[in-house]
Amino acid sequence: MYVDSHCHLDFPDLAAREDEVLATMAANDVGTALCISVKLEDFPRVLSLAERHPQLWASVGVHPDNADCDEPDVARLVALADHPKVVAIGETGLDYYWQKDAPEWQRARFRTHIRAARETGKPLIIHTRSAADDTLRLMREEKAGEAGGVMHCFTESWDVAAGALELGFYISFSGIVTFRNAKDLKEVARRVPLDRLLIETDSPYLAPVPHRGKTNEPGWVVHVAEELARLRDEPLETIAAATTDNFFRLFSHAQRPA
Ligand SMILES: [Zn+2]
Ligand SMILES: [Zn+2]
Repeated sequence: MYVDSHCHLDFPDLAAREDEVLATMAANDVGTALCISVKLEDFPRVLSLAERHPQLWASVGVHPDNADCDEPDVARLVALADHPKVVAIGETGLDYYWQKDAPEWQRARFRTHIRAARETGKPLIIHTRSAADDTLRLMREEKAGEAGGVMHCFTESWDVAAGALELGFYISFSGIVTFRNAKDLKEVARRVPLDRLLIETDSPYLAPVPHRGKTNEPGWVVHVAEELARLRDEPLETIAAATTDNFFRLFSHAQRPA
C-alpha cells in the first residue's frame, strides 16, 4: 500500500471528479491520502472530504501565498484542529518566490502555526520556496522540532534537508523528483534516510512522469515511489512499506486501514 501525504482534493479540478479520483486511488493501492488546507475559508470542504471518506484525512492551516484571507491566531487553529479527522497543522511556511518582498506577515503566520502545532501535538506540513534560511531559522526559534512534521514537496539542497532532519523532520518528495532535469533533487532523494522519507502528489499540481502536464491525482503517487526505488536502488516494496510506516508514525492521529 501507498500513502499520498499531500494533496488538494478540494480544488475544483479534483472535486468535480471525486468518485473517479478515489477509484483510481483504490486501483493503484493508494490506501490513504492527506487533504491539505490552504485557507480557512476552504477548510470546511477539506474537512468534509475527510469526514465522508475513511481513507482521507485533513490538515488545517493557511498557505504562505494567500495574502488577503482570514488570518488565524493560535487559539483558532488549535480549536479547528480539535477534530478526530484533523491530523496535521498546515500547510504553512515561507514562500519568497511568489511574495518577493519577503513580507513580515508570512513569518508571523508561520510562527502562529508552529505554536499551534506544539500546543495540539499535531505535526506541521511545511512549504518552503526561495526562503530556506528563514524557514529553518524560524523552525529553530519556535522549537518546531517539539511538534515534528514534514518538509513537503521538497526541492531544496541537501544542506536544507540535513537541517530539517536534524530537527526530527521528514522529507517528502513529489512528482518533481521524476522530472529529467531535477538532477540535484534526485541526489538529495538518494541520501534521505529511509525512515524519514515520505511521498506525495501535491495534486492537482506537479503530475509525475509519465503523466507530466496533466491534472495530477493521488493515485499517481505510485510513480514517485517508483522513481525513489530506482534512484536508491531499493525494491519498490521497501519504499512503499517505509513511506507508509513513516506516514502513520508521524501523523499518529491517522488510523492505518485494516
Ligand atoms: Zn506547498
Ligand atoms: Zn500543497
